[in-house]
Amino acid sequence: MTETSKPLRAVLPSVDKLLRHEDGLALAEAYGRAAATDAVRAVIDELRRRLLGAGGEADTGEEAVLASAADLLAAKSAPSLKKVFNLTGTVLHTNLGRAPLPREAIEAMTLVAGGASNLEYDLESGRRGDRDVHVDDLLAELTGAEAATVVNNNAAAVLLVLNTLAKGKEVPVSRGQLVEIGGSFRMPDIIRRAGCKMHEVGTTNRTHLKDFEDAIGGRTALLLKVHTSNYEVQGFTKEVSDAELAALARKHGIPCVDDLGSGTLVDLTRFGLPHEPTAAEALAHGMSVVTFSGDKLLGGPQAGMIVGKKELIDKIKKNPMKRALRIDKVTMAALSAVLRLYLDPDRLVERMPALRLLARQADEIAATGRRVVDPVSRALDGIAAVELVGCQSQIGSGSLPVERLDSVALGITPSTGRRGGGAALNRIAKAFRSLPIPVIGRVHEGAFLLDLRCLEDVEAFVGQLDQLTPGRASR
Ligand SMILES: *Cc1c(COP(=O)(O)O)cnc(C)c1O
Repeated sequence: MTETSKPLRAVLPSVDKLLRHEDGLALAEAYGRAAATDAVRAVIDELRRRLLGAGGEADTGEEAVLASAADLLAAKSAPSLKKVFNLTGTVLHTNLGRAPLPREAIEAMTLVAGGASNLEYDLESGRRGDRDVHVDDLLAELTGAEAATVVNNNAAAVLLVLNTLAKGKEVPVSRGQLVEIGGSFRMPDIIRRAGCKMHEVGTTNRTHLKDFEDAIGGRTALLLKVHTSNYEVQGFTKEVSDAELAALARKHGIPCVDDLGSGTLVDLTRFGLPHEPTAAEALAHGMSVVTFSGDKLLGGPQAGMIVGKKELIDKIKKNPMKRALRIDKVTMAALSAVLRLYLDPDRLVERMPALRLLARQADEIAATGRRVVDPVSRALDGIAAVELVGCQSQIGSGSLPVERLDSVALGITPSTGRRGGGAALNRIAKAFRSLPIPVIGRVHEGAFLLDLRCLEDVEAFVGQLDQLTPGRASR
């Protein structure tokens, strides 16, 4: 409390005095003197503004000021990138970092992150080496390719392949495959940025082999196939098969390039999942170069695989752009560890978190649900009703867009009922997002859903529920 009649200077403690206070010294010790001074000044400035404002009242005690400064410093020094619970029901969520990595990959990353490694150093000869050696043989073995290389992500892979093999030339591509992935990756833009001229063939729903045949001319560099990852054309449709397209390219002595998008190294049906084309299948169908992502269904770090004919891979590796798109040692370590897990497909589901979460059965998810429904119910007592409901998860990252996986969610319905339900739902969603480990769910048909497919650390989830503060709706 302050008497507004007193001059502010007499009311507010001095910065110097605060920094000599026991709590002030502790702040300087923890965060550095400069940061502590800045924070104390910021709090004093804020107090001054508040005291000058209408009805201005504030606690100007030294301890209170220093406690505010401590909060400010703690908030500022906390990393902005943090762990969250992905209960959205989209397993490979691009905005939430896509695939969770296996323990083996995390250990490999830790090992190289803190010091020197033989990233580009040949221990045999003692000379400069090639960073691709840590993955290229493995990738070739797992896909049946002659050669392989790797770049920053699949967008980079497509850009590099097109720029290397088709710069200044024409690239025919089906109108049904001019995909946009998440706004920033649009096939027509990538083709243009790679320095190529796009030649659209066929129509949105139907493209025939003859359309490609008619498009091929003296300026044609290669034929491009793009996996229509995040949508499906249904009804009266026609696509040219891989084998037909590859045969046509071969007949004209040009490569056939396949952007598989997600791509995978194993047949997912063995884990009870829908079939997604594998890189090996695409190559077996005659594709010359195939590209795919590292952090989609592969379950690894962000990376872009390029596999195919040795002659073409060699050219791609010599493109100066490769240097700008290369992956770092930490990613290389993770990718190499993940690829080695694929050498033993029988143990993949137990070792690869992404596949484990995708393959999780609804009854197992329901068992998790029974452990969390009461604690969440208690945390939302009087605010919302909580029950276990069936729901559908999706794979995400544009993989198998129309396929759904049966799952179980916590269905959270605000007690306010329909009236004001939207605001109440938003308040609940925000409260979950504000937890120390933010919980991200989705709103569906008047309820806030927490899809439990990706919830494995139940203790950590339940342990922070006492900090859930959604507040009651004003009546
Ligand atoms: C996801 C995707 C890409 C982009 O891959 P990133 O690894 O995210 O860069 C490109 N093409 C297709 C068909 C995709 O599905």
